[in-house]
Amino acid sequence: MKFTFPKSPKPDSVSDSDWNNWTWQLRQSLKTQSDFEKVFTLTDNERVAFSKGKELFNIRTTPYYASLAGDDPQDSIRQILMPQRFEFEDGLQQMLDPLGERKNNPAPRVIHRYSDRVLFLVTDICSVYCRFCTRKHFTGQEQAFIRNDEYEQALSYIRSHPGIREVILSGGDPLTISDAQLDRVLGDLRSIDHVEIIRIGTRMPVVCPMRVTDELVAILRKHKPVFLMSHFNHPNELTAEAAAALEKFVDNGVPVMNQMVLLNGINNHPAIVQALNRRLVYLRVKPYYMFQCDPSQGTDHLRTSVEDSLEIQKELWGHLSGLAMPNLSVDIPNGGGKTYLVPNFQVAQEGLVRKYVGWDGVQAEYVSPAAKDIKKPDASRYLAEWESLKAAKS
Ligand code: SF4
Repeated sequence: MKFTFPKSPKPDSVSDSDWNNWTWQLRQSLKTQSDFEKVFTLTDNERVAFSKGKELFNIRTTPYYASLAGDDPQDSIRQILMPQRFEFEDGLQQMLDPLGERKNNPAPRVIHRYSDRVLFLVTDICSVYCRFCTRKHFTGQEQAFIRNDEYEQALSYIRSHPGIREVILSGGDPLTISDAQLDRVLGDLRSIDHVEIIRIGTRMPVVCPMRVTDELVAILRKHKPVFLMSHFNHPNELTAEAAAALEKFVDNGVPVMNQMVLLNGINNHPAIVQALNRRLVYLRVKPYYMFQCDPSQGTDHLRTSVEDSLEIQKELWGHLSGLAMPNLSVDIPNGGGKTYLVPNFQVAQEGLVRKYVGWDGVQAEYVSPAAKDIKKPDASRYLAEWESLKAAKS
């Protein structure tokens, strides 16, 4: 099937040149209750949330992203951007820092959890504050681009740890910073010999696709290899503008991988998951992760159960190609790291014989060779590299 992508419903009162200008979108962001009331008829639950003021995780959306949300309070995009009274209710699990990032923070704005890679939080600002955000302990405090002295300390940490092969720019949203700032950050990281890969984790192609300009992709090309990690959660987010932004990255040699989060009542249905991921593959974006929502504060109403997620994954199995299937994963709280969640197709094991029932009921055995027959190839040429990778964090 050839997919089509609808244009966003721009209000008649806004000119094309304003609507398609990312700085206009950021300047015109909706932040206050009265901004939102110009676009939405607020429910009582939403009004109560706005009345909590500073106690609430920051509120912001671009006019573009707001235009994709309907006036139905149950609309998927509306639930992602709109604060709710439920954010203040006691939940089953409420953690300020569910990924344990604060204890893995050896330099300002640097999170070093895995041996070979670090997160570098270049800004805490986003153009939309998603209600499910994992990093509420940092995001949205409007501290903006990292201070110069902290920037130098962060770079110096990365420089002095030769085991760091990947740097993931995150935040906040790294694509809210200017082209000049981004060019500087990427250039400084590229000048470090051991940094092989740079990733940029961003929601801008989703919430402000006009950010993806010719100038931006030229900067990413200049500092290759740079991977773009997008964050589409719902097929309704795939407009003509978003599709054009994704194609611009890929056409310019920037690989794009998508990370989605399963959200209760928003996208936790196999029909929605397949619709999103097939369209992404059509746009040459690889669906990478499908995360269980982290238990950050105020997200209980947005979290679905592990059982529900596994059921969705099992239903998709066999109907969605490996190219279109994201890896279902949960981040173990307190910095335990990611673990895959996979449906279990093995039903029995006796010695070397494993019995399976496949996704459509085919039953069969897989017989492994005996341990004495397992040989290892000569890896001497790669051993030093392997040992240094394992020793990276020490
Ligand atoms: S864009 Fe990312 S960092 Fe910003 S609020 Fe959304 S999920 Fe959090």
